[in-house]
Amino acid sequence: MSEQTQQLDDGRALIGELIADHAEDWDLSGELPIDLLRKLGAWGLLCAEVPSAAGGLGLDSGTSGELTAYVGSLCGSTRSIMTSHGMAAWMVSRFGDRTQRRDYLAQLTSGQLAAVGFSEPEAGSDLAAMRTRIRFEGDTVVVSGEKKWVTGARYADHLMILGRQDDGGAVVVVPTSAPGVALIPIPTPALGCRAAGHWHVRLDDVRLPAGHVLGGGGQDLSMLFTTALSYGRISIAWGCAGIVRACLRAATEHAKNREQFGKPIGEHQLVGRHLAELVVAEQITTRVCEHASAAWQAFAPDMAVSTVLAKHVSAGQAAHSAATAVQVLGSAGAMDGHVVARAYRDAKLMEIIEGSNEICQLILADHALSQAF
Ligand SMILES: Cc1cc2nc3c(=O)[nH]c(=O)nc-3n(C[C@H](O)[C@H](O)[C@H](O)COP(=O)(O)OP(=O)(O)OC[C@H]3O[C@@H](n4cnc5c(N)ncnc54)[C@H](O)[C@@H]3O)c2cc1C
Repeated sequence: MSEQTQQLDDGRALIGELIADHAEDWDLSGELPIDLLRKLGAWGLLCAEVPSAAGGLGLDSGTSGELTAYVGSLCGSTRSIMTSHGMAAWMVSRFGDRTQRRDYLAQLTSGQLAAVGFSEPEAGSDLAAMRTRIRFEGDTVVVSGEKKWVTGARYADHLMILGRQDDGGAVVVVPTSAPGVALIPIPTPALGCRAAGHWHVRLDDVRLPAGHVLGGGGQDLSMLFTTALSYGRISIAWGCAGIVRACLRAATEHAKNREQFGKPIGEHQLVGRHLAELVVAEQITTRVCEHASAAWQAFAPDMAVSTVLAKHVSAGQAAHSAATAVQVLGSAGAMDGHVVARAYRDAKLMEIIEGSNEICQLILADHALSQAF
């Protein structure tokens, strides 16, 4: 067994033990235990691709993806935190200087939690419209703006805040304890991933030492969010593979055991077709994710478009699979908190975040127009 496979097995065992059958309760209460998140963080499982020299597990993209899929099959809220925290670590790795990488990656692999703020009231799909301002006053950086729907903000110690700096952009690592940071709960439960702690954030002239700006700032704004989103997309795609697997498992189990008209419902051909669709969906999502991870690992020229493809295909398959699984379970799955009901709500959100269906299609259309197929 390779070291990566061993780490995957160990990670799954630890995660399985911690999450066990609690996901339903967390979904209903709308809160994850902070101890769980800190433990997962301290084991390096929330950002498993961080190299071992920097305190992480050093998993390759495909192995880390399988870990994400496993978490996604158990608890969409915990997987959401994993995606955001992993994206934060990726941003430090990509944009930070040597000292920042050493310091922040050590914190992010020792139990401190991070979230990422891109979206704003007037900048959702169109991130280039963001208004958050980042300016320097001598050795101090000042951040002002508003961020919406920041996954994990409720639990975070650090926020990776993207904003405008002069004609370009910058990412600032903002401690949630800094004066001027307001974390604002969303008043009603989210449609899905209800325990993921999506809160809004307001930054009122938050003043920090300039060393909090990753790489010193002055980068191209769209390069910053596109690079960060690539990690988010591949992570969401694997999370969706997990949703599909959970749906396949629950639907198959139910179809074997529930009898109607004198036989298990799985033996009725129309229900069997649902199961066949779920088997196909599981294969499609897994293969498209593996393809994206291979491109990611090789830093291939089609890496970015592969992550968009994986995210778009997997989100669609997860949404369809969840609806199918609810159909197979009938009233047995029509209860808040049940695995397929959660999947149904969680999967719909996957078609909105990290580039909605339409935004992914626009990127794929641009790709088509620029290629000779
Ligand atoms: C559960 C959840 C978690 C989130 N987590 C985070 C987070 O951690 N950090 C963060 O910064 N943000 C986060 N967000 C925000 C998320 O990134 C945005 O919701 C997303 O980018 C879409 O923006 P919007 O909601 O403003 O929709 P809009 O941009 O207003 O879009 C509304 C609809 O119009 C369509 N549309 C927009 N422009 C076009 C176009 N040019 N062509 C065709 N269709 C178009 C969209 O596809 C969508 O269907 C989260 C959101 C949710 C729901």
